[in-house]
Formats: sequence, structure tokens, C-alpha cells
Amino acid sequence: MQPVIALVGRPNVGKSTLFNRLTRTRDALVADLPGLTRDRQYGTGKLGGRSYLVVDTGGFEPEQKNGIVAEMARQTRQAIDEADAVIFVLDARGGLQIEDEEVASYLRRSGRPVFLAVNKAEGLGEQFPASDFHALGLGEPIPISAAHG
Ligand code: GDP
Ligand code: MG
Repeated sequence: MQPVIALVGRPNVGKSTLFNRLTRTRDALVADLPGLTRDRQYGTGKLGGRSYLVVDTGGFEPEQKNGIVAEMARQTRQAIDEADAVIFVLDARGGLQIEDEEVASYLRRSGRPVFLAVNKAEGLGEQFPASDFHALGLGEPIPISAAHG
């Protein structure tokens, strides 16, 4: 069975853009409006000779108890539970936000291997706020740019 890798993070950090990059498709809905991708989306990525299943998710706003936001949070937790490893996508430009801490807290309890992909890092150089993201306690932040490869 191929390993399952879930992409999680709050809305608008670039999960769907990264999904498209990893799966080389435009299947995931990339939106300028936060939170437009409501459902999980599955695709196949390849690394060397091996393939893996990539799961894109909606956002994660556990403060809200009802409606679409709670549904998105539930889907994200389910995707984490089903994954062999998780890519936690963060925004280098938007910085660390309270929703990121909530995701981090759930991820720590999940026991899954977590990779911190700090997106939108193109052109930041020395300005990359590594120590902010390091403080999440989930390992070394990895600067990436999903949009620019
Ligand atoms: P999602 O809500 O987490 O799935 O985020 P999306 O993939 O829909 O992207 C949200 C916004 O961020 C869109 O306007 C993207 O074009 C933009 N975006 C995604 N990746 C990058 C990146 O690497 N750099 C920059 N500057 N913008 C990006
Ligand atoms: Mg999306």
C-alpha cells in the first residue's frame, strides 16, 4: 500500500497549490478566497521510484462549533488520523496565528510524523521567520514556495 500524506493548515496558506505541485495536476481548487476548498481531495505524488497518496484538506478553525467551519475542522482531524505522515503548511508572510497553534496542538497529540512546510517563502532570504515557526515544537521549519516550485 502506498503511504498517505495529508496536507493540513489554516485556510489560504497554499495547501491546494502544494497539492497541485506534488501531484502535478490542477485538481485541487486554488482560491484567492480563504477556505473555498471544503472537501478533502486525493491525488498521487511520486518521489524517486515510489508513489504516495496526497490528501488536500479544507481549513481548520476549531474555535467555531457549527456550520461549514466546524465541518472543515472535522475533515482535517480525520485526514490527520488517516495519514502516515502530515505536511503542516504555514505562511511565511502571514506569520504564526492562533489557528496554527490549534493545528499544532492536535498534531502533537496525533503522534504522526510532521513536516513543517513554511510556504510563500520565495524571496524572503534572511527575513525568513524561522524562530517563530520553530517555537511550535514540531521540528525544523522548511521554507518552500508551492507557487514557484
Ligand atoms: P489553501 O486555502 O491553503 O488551499 O491555499 P491556496 O492553495 O488556495 O492558496 C491561497 C493563496 O495563496 C492563493 O492566492 C495562492 O496563489 C497563494 N499562494 C500559494 N502558494 C504560494 C506561494 O508559494 N507564494 C505566494 N506568494 N503565494 C502563494
Ligand atoms: Mg485549498
